[in-house]
Amino acid sequence: MRHRIAVVGGGPGGLTLARVLHRRGHSVTVLEREPGPDARPPGGTLDLQEKMGQLALEKAGLAAEFRALSRPEGQAMRILGPDGTVLRDWRPSPDDLANPEIDRGQLRDLLLGPLDVQWGRGVTEVVPQARDGALVRFADGRQETFDLVIGADGAWSRVRPAVSSATPRYTGVTSVETSLDDVDTRHPDLARLVGDGSLAVYGVNRSVVAQRNSGGHVKVYAKFRAPLDWHADASMDDVEAVRSALLALFDGWAAPVLDLLGHGTAFVHRPLYVLPVSHTWTHVPGVTLLGDAAHLMPPLGAGANLAMLEGAELAESIADASGLGELDEAVRAFEEQMWARAGRWAALTAEGLERLVSADPAEALAQWDEVQPS
Ligand SMILES: Cc1cc2nc3c(=O)[nH]c(=O)nc-3n(C[C@H](O)[C@H](O)[C@H](O)COP(=O)(O)OP(=O)(O)OC[C@H]3O[C@@H](n4cnc5c(N)ncnc54)[C@H](O)[C@@H]3O)c2cc1C
Repeated sequence: MRHRIAVVGGGPGGLTLARVLHRRGHSVTVLEREPGPDARPPGGTLDLQEKMGQLALEKAGLAAEFRALSRPEGQAMRILGPDGTVLRDWRPSPDDLANPEIDRGQLRDLLLGPLDVQWGRGVTEVVPQARDGALVRFADGRQETFDLVIGADGAWSRVRPAVSSATPRYTGVTSVETSLDDVDTRHPDLARLVGDGSLAVYGVNRSVVAQRNSGGHVKVYAKFRAPLDWHADASMDDVEAVRSALLALFDGWAAPVLDLLGHGTAFVHRPLYVLPVSHTWTHVPGVTLLGDAAHLMPPLGAGANLAMLEGAELAESIADASGLGELDEAVRAFEEQMWARAGRWAALTAEGLERLVSADPAEALAQWDEVQPS
């Protein structure tokens, strides 16, 4: 029996689910709020772990394409002290494929492939139905029913309230993102400093991280502990005001590190929110969640990996289920597996964030040494 399946959200989780179902010959409706794939900048680079993101791409039949696009050299990591002293300088061996990097835009295009996404279909609400399935309400006033609605719509999920009353809370750590283009030509010294992968500098309750993306693009993140309204006096569009505030916050740090912030031409404020560690809910037939919608956690290399693996696993279970009863059992089993694994990662990343943006920068170094690939 062919089930009517809808996935809300065309991020890494939703698209992986759709792509694996597509591979298994099962149709799925992908509902995405954005008007098109390039409506917004796709964001920075992602490292995909062998046993999570890469495994999901294998299940989608996309392993070879991923290997061709990804950057194993992007796993390189250099750590400096605020005075510019090099504390760690780790480079992967050429055959190290544990966590290669890929640009988000490239990953999205890879997953999109033949999928027929319904763009511009913002979901406002999902209502489980008394008999079976769920009703989806859209921003344009229309509505549609499906046997199963999967919320893969990220941190501020509109599907989540159908199963859980949990909402994200602010961690107390915020992040301001900027970027440098054409870095090898325009800022060769900074290009050398960042190298092929990431550069991280840890100070007291603050850090600067720079990551190389493909095409000479470097994303820079300033992370620090601050109240949510730390920039309330100035709009984030006031580039000079934000730049001055950041340079004051990192006053006394080595000049090249300040240059990473000082050369940015636009700044985006991204406060870090999380859902409760080990967030679960009482199973609701006809609706489930995956990815950030289910377990938003600090951005420490796990979120997209988990979302993709969950998307692939749920898709395989859906494709194997023959009746509505079997479909519901498959979703229940998927949720149990997701909750156990995501709970472990949520605890690890919560502790990781505390140590990486900490009053004692030695904690950040210790955290890195503990997770560094051998
Ligand atoms: C700076 C940074 C770096 C990171 N680096 C890594 C990394 O290296 N590795 C890693 O594994 N993770 C990383 N993460 C985390 C990762 O980005 C997320 O965990 C991941 O994107 C979650 O995927 P998702 O599919 O669940 O949700 P999302 O990526 O948030 O996608 C949700 C989709 O749903 C759509 N949507 C939202 N609301 C609606 C609605 N109402 N109706 C219809 N559509 C809707 C959105 O437009 C979006 O396309 C990083 C995060 C940040 C912020």
